[in-house]
Parts: sequence; C-alpha cells; structure tokens
Amino acid sequence: VHALPTTGSPTHTHCPYCALQCAMSVTPSPGDGPATITPEQFPTNRGGLCRKGWTSAVLLDHPDRITTPLIRVDGHLQPTDWDTALTRVTDGILRAQASGGPDAVAVFGGGGLTNEKAYTLGKFTRLALGSRLVDYNGRWCMSSAAAGANRSFGLDRGMPFPVTDLDDARAVLLIGANPADTMPPFVQHLDTAAAAGGMVVADPRLSATAHRAVDGGGIHLRLRPGTDSALALGLLHVAVVGGHLDTEYVSTRTSGFDDAWAIAADWMPDRTERVTGVSADQLERTVELLSSSRDAGSGAYILTARGAEQHSRGTDTVGAVIALALALGLPGRPGTGYGTLTGQGNGQGGREHGQKADQLPGYRMITDPAARAHVASVWGVEPEEIPGPGLSAFELLDALGEPGGPTAMLIHASNPVVSAPDADRITARLRSLDTLVVADFVLSETAELADVVLPVPQWAEEEGTLTNLEGRVLRRRRSVTPPDGARDELWIWNELARRLGRGPERFPTDPRVVFDELARASAGGKADYSAMDWDRLDAGEALFWPCGADSPAGTPRMFLDSFATGDGRARFAVAAVDPPAEDTCPDYPLLGTTGRVLAHYQSGAQTRRVPELASAEPEMWVQVHPVVARAVGLDDGGRARVVSRRGAVEALVRCDEDMRTDTLFLPFHFAGAARANLVTLPELDPYSRMPQFKACAVRLEAA
Ligand code: SF4
Repeated sequence: VHALPTTGSPTHTHCPYCALQCAMSVTPSPGDGPATITPEQFPTNRGGLCRKGWTSAVLLDHPDRITTPLIRVDGHLQPTDWDTALTRVTDGILRAQASGGPDAVAVFGGGGLTNEKAYTLGKFTRLALGSRLVDYNGRWCMSSAAAGANRSFGLDRGMPFPVTDLDDARAVLLIGANPADTMPPFVQHLDTAAAAGGMVVADPRLSATAHRAVDGGGIHLRLRPGTDSALALGLLHVAVVGGHLDTEYVSTRTSGFDDAWAIAADWMPDRTERVTGVSADQLERTVELLSSSRDAGSGAYILTARGAEQHSRGTDTVGAVIALALALGLPGRPGTGYGTLTGQGNGQGGREHGQKADQLPGYRMITDPAARAHVASVWGVEPEEIPGPGLSAFELLDALGEPGGPTAMLIHASNPVVSAPDADRITARLRSLDTLVVADFVLSETAELADVVLPVPQWAEEEGTLTNLEGRVLRRRRSVTPPDGARDELWIWNELARRLGRGPERFPTDPRVVFDELARASAGGKADYSAMDWDRLDAGEALFWPCGADSPAGTPRMFLDSFATGDGRARFAVAAVDPPAEDTCPDYPLLGTTGRVLAHYQSGAQTRRVPELASAEPEMWVQVHPVVARAVGLDDGGRARVVSRRGAVEALVRCDEDMRTDTLFLPFHFAGAARANLVTLPELDPYSRMPQFKACAVRLEAA
C-alpha cells in the first residue's frame, strides 16, 4: 500500500486545511527534521499561506501520531496489530447486523476526505455494509448553501466563477463570512473593493474582515445573530423601492419575482432595522454600492458563508440572499455574481461523490430512478441493491444506541464529540454503541471513545484529488512516506469487504483507478467529472466541473447562458421569516454565536497540537461587550461560564467594546468543558437538515 519511496525533492501539492487549497510544495528533510513547506504561486493564494498552512508539516511526525491500531481492553485503548484490529471491526459489524439488520451499522464521513475516499466511503457503506446510513460532517458546513443554490440555480457549485474574478470588483457584500481569519490569502481578492470603499460585511461582531471593510471606508452591518434572512429581505426591499432592480434581467433570466416581492414588500427599512439592528441608511448605502458598481461595469458580488447558513432556516436565508443578487442582476454574468465560501478542504468534492445520506455520485439524488440505474451500472449491481436515503448527520448520530438504531459505527475524518451541536447528547450516543470504530491519525476526542482506532495517513502521505471552493479539481500528491503502522482508508475498506465476504474487488485501493470510476459515475450528473482524467490533473490543467462530454475543457464560469433549472431561469425562492428557533428570555438573555479563529481549524484536533498555533490561541474564550461582562461581575481575563438550556461552556472573558450588548461569541475549536457546541441548538433546517449553530439563547456567569 505504501510502496512509493519518500522523494527527496519538493512535491507540488496543496494545503491540508481549508477549501482555498493554497498551493505549496513539501520537501522532506534529509535527516530527522520536519518537512519544509514552501508556498507556491496559484490563482487562489498567489504565493500566500496562512499560519496554519505554514505549520502544516508539524503534524507529519508529531509525537501524538497514532502509528499502530488500538483496541479497547478492560476500558483502555491498547496497541495491537492490524489483523486483530480488523477482526474486532468485522466481528462488531457482523454482530450488529445479525441482530439489527444492515442498518445496524452506520458510517460518518468528512469533508476532508479526498474525492476518491468520499466516493468509496459511500459505495462501501451501501454495497459492502448494505446500509443506508451514511452521512458526513459537511452536513453541518455547506448543506444550507447547497440546498439554497440547488433551489434557485438548479445546481450547487460554491463559487460558480474563479476567485480571481473578484480581483477587479469595486463592490463586494459578504454576509456571515470572515475570510480574513478563516482563509487569509483569499482577502487579497477583495483588495480592489476594500480600497474603493466598496466592501460591506454583515456580521454580528466587528470581525477581522469587517475591520478591513471599515478601514477602507466600507460598511459593517452589525446585525443581530439569526436575522440574516430579514437583512437580505430588507436589502431586497430597498433595491426594488430605490429603483435598483435590473428589470430586464429579472424578466428574461429569472422566475418567481412577484412571489418574492409579496414577502419582501413588508420588509421596509424601519422594520428591518428593528429586527436586525442595521440602520436604513446602511441598507441604502449597501444597495447603492452594489448597483452603482454594477452599472459602471466595475464588478459587484455577494458572498455568503456559515454565519448566514448555519441556521434552522439556513436554506431560506440563502434563498433570500440569492433573491437580492437576482434582483440586482448579478448571477451568471461576467464581472458580477453570487457565491458561497466553502469551508473544509474538500467541502465541495466531499458533497458530490456520494457520502451524503440522500445522494449518489455525480451529485445525483438517491431517490431518482435514473440516477440509481446509472450508478448501479457503474457499480455492476442492480439498482435495487443500492439502499435508499438514510439520515442526516445529527439525526444519524442521535439515533445511535436508541431502540432500532445503529449499534455499530465507523467514523472517518471527523470529530463529532467536538463538532456536533448539543455535543454532550451526541457524546452519550457514541458511548452507548456496541462497536465504535474511528480512523484518524491522532487520538481525537471522538477516537478517545472508540473501541477500535485505525491509524491512517495524512494529506502529505496520500495520493488523490480534491475540489476547491471554485469547483476546480486539484491533485493532492504524496510527498513523504506514512508511518509503518498507518494504512490508507482505501486499503481498509477493501480489506473489510474481503473479511466480510462482500466483494472486495469492488473497492480498488489505487486512487487513480477510483478517480476513473468516480468520473464515469459522475457522467451526466450535476457535478460531471467524466472528461477529466488523472493525467490532465497531474499536468496542472485548470479543470472546473462540469467537465463532461459537452464541456471537455471544464467550466470556470457557470450560468452565463442559462441556469441549471428546468426552464433555464434562476428562481426567486423567498420564504416568510420565521421566529427565531430559540429566542432570549430572562433566564437566557443573550444570543450566543460561534465561529473560527485564525490559528485553528474546525474541531482543533489537528491545530491544537501544533505548538505555534496552540500558543497563539491556547484556550477557550468568550467575546462580550464589557457592559455585559461587568453586569455579572466579570472583566477582561475573568473565568466565565456560558450556559444554555443544553449545557455550559467554560471560557476566559475577552471584553470588546465593539460587540453588541445582546450577543456573545464563542470559537468552536476547543475540547472538553470548553466545547462551544455544549450550548448550541440541534434544531434542524427542514430542507438541508443544518442545525442552528449560529444563534442560541445563553447567559453569562462568573465561573
Ligand atoms: Fe491552508 Fe486555508 Fe490557510 Fe490556505 S488559507 S494556508 S488553504 S488553511
């Protein structure tokens, strides 16, 4: 499996972390030292890396690396050999399915898996395990953005244009996006807008990105958490009433405007201000910036990210923002557009190849008979052999150990003990399993609960492809040799299928062979890779999907002629604004919201182990207005508890005069009693099944 030798020269690859997928080279040390990271020129990062990228080699030979399988004996994880570990896994699978049927085994994947692994994980679950229960952590990341884009455009590619299209834009509105912390090299693409005073950032707090906007003379829309939908409808109202509607675009390229206006007409500026806290003047200036830049041919874009999307009505929020973009005539035109900033490294590809509960490869719906027939033909099975839709991530985890629920679970590339909403509830569910198997390269908080831990290679030790936030498919290349004891996931699934007697030949271990198969499986689907091949990607061709029989050169810019809906028109998909999923009350008078910081990535299982990153952000904190802190006897540096109806988080107080007095902010990268998700709300979006991460009722207490 690990036959490739360590190379002594730089290998061109991409950062292991976020979806910007900055280009870098990795050069193994001639001695025992860490590999060297060198940033490379690439359109997304232009030679830049953030501190996470610069330090990404530290984990390759980190002392916390798991280098041998572990099994639980008498309550403790102990080293073992691969045969013993995999015997324990297969025994657990067979035991669960003997008593509970195929769905007694569930699988949880991740947006960090390569395309080949995401594809194989879905296929392995459905064919080798015969289970319908597979979903992944991207459900908690991009699902509302995806559902909203599918509803309005008929297709979801996070950014349907290259990031470099933003370079010349003089007006960019970001809603719930903080790339200055989450993907710093990206903000160079906003320099023109920032310098022109045309950068507008909607965020409950003065984030690093909002700072940048204000410093350039732009606008910070400091909205109340959870009111993004109302804000978008208020902006839509101002656009229409202020004469900024692109009437020709709306009449020729869209449908449903009248229904949208029937709702937006009630979102007058004074009502919008009452609900969101954003003034009428700011609403008008924002729309004026976008429309004047559009009219001058100077570029106008609207971008969203998780701040707008991680809500129990996140799909509707995305629909409202897209409606604003459509009213202004932005999507599907050169120089203007709407997009969303994908978070995880393979957050885009991870949602296209079949590890979602409701989808098959090619971004096909699992309930579509034609999709089932096509994928079955590629897999060499009958359509009836592919199980139907499963459960979304939270519902899946919440069913563990319940009557009739799964009793065994395999987790890859995910750490739900930290990242799941209402985290203690999910931790208890995981503990209740008969067999929990976690594949990881360090002992994450979830791996600590496992019955079997399988050590796997890291990014620089594997071959594969990923799809970045623009829909551009990239090669991840092996540059160093993994530890002797690690085994690649493709090998693990093949070996499990062999031990279970369930067709190991259907699960190739060579990523190149898997890519060829996933490309065939994607043919004719929404995310069509069928004209791509490994050699073209290896040669560095810029291949954006769809890249199929009709578009063999790929499609950097989408929707220029028509949208992917039945009639080719983008749909206004606007819904009435619902009351908050959980509002404040005397016991819980504040709104807690969560997010990322520059030094850490996702659950922090990786970045908390990198000394430079850990020293920059060593422990959990809560950001509050000093008035709010002092009201409960706290000040900067004090020890606080943030309490919701579900749990409490312990954190250090960081006072900030720029915070709203009804809001507090929690970074979500920390473990144990410092998990932000101990307080978050698992109320789910009816379409995307996204939990309400971004606003929950809390109170602040002195610890
Ligand atoms: Fe890596 Fe993202 Fe940082 Fe680039 S911005 S170096 S891809 S974490």
